[in-house]
Amino acid sequence: MTDIAGHAGLKFAVYREHYDQIPRAKRVKEILEQDPEITHVAMVHSETTSGILNDIEAVGKVVKAAGKVFIVDAMSSFGGMEIPVKDWGIDFIISSANKCIQGVPGFSFIIARKDLLKVSEGKARSLSLDLYDQWKTMEADGKWRFTSPTHVVLAFAKAMEELEEEGGIPARHQRYADNNRLLIEKMKEMGIRPYIDAEHQGPIITTFFYPEHADFSFQEMYDYIKERGYAIYPGKVTEADTFRIGNIGEIYREDIEKLCSLMKDFLEERNR
Ligand SMILES: *Cc1c(COP(=O)(O)O)cnc(C)c1O
Repeated sequence: MTDIAGHAGLKFAVYREHYDQIPRAKRVKEILEQDPEITHVAMVHSETTSGILNDIEAVGKVVKAAGKVFIVDAMSSFGGMEIPVKDWGIDFIISSANKCIQGVPGFSFIIARKDLLKVSEGKARSLSLDLYDQWKTMEADGKWRFTSPTHVVLAFAKAMEELEEEGGIPARHQRYADNNRLLIEKMKEMGIRPYIDAEHQGPIITTFFYPEHADFSFQEMYDYIKERGYAIYPGKVTEADTFRIGNIGEIYREDIEKLCSLMKDFLEERNR
């Protein structure tokens, strides 16, 4: 977000928290009180870096109470959990075709408050990412301003059908949450602990500490699992020794069980 804001030439302030901590609504309130120049607040919902689920409801409340615009990056949560956009005071929520909607990559979408969208006319700092202009064009003839990503749109329509067939967002959320719970439980049996505490762990992606083996090699485990049909996130992102497992997509209980038994085999083989 700071990269994006920097490239767009925006003036911005950053409120940072440690990877395993959520931003506190109380702190956001203080920052807004201390700096009345701030007009917009942007934050991530499901933080893909760690798997933490941020409390956008609480932050939304203080942002609205301060009369500011609230922008939420819900890339990896939208479609995978209920988000009462209006009730939580979200003015712009951003997601894409290829995460919890389970389509293919190719476009993103924004659910926006129309009055705020309208006052953004002519303010875009980028030609291709001019949201107002895109909206106006779609309102006029239903088209993308530039070449339409036709295949992605078709895949998206199919993905939406499948979401409905699954039972909508509540059913998908249940599947993700069940998979996540099972994953954490099975990993704990192997002595592998999650990085985020249970209260803040989101259902989409989970970060785990390396098992406490002196000779554990993530790369070897990654390759071992991949050769047997499953891909986990490569590499670590936190300063701690951790790895991540994501469960967006057509992933079911059997897959979690299979993955965990592969990990178990790997660890046992290494320990022999
Ligand atoms: C995936 C993701 C992004 C980036 O999406 P791209 O399609 O790579 O642009 C941004 N934020 C979050 C929280 C994400 O999960």
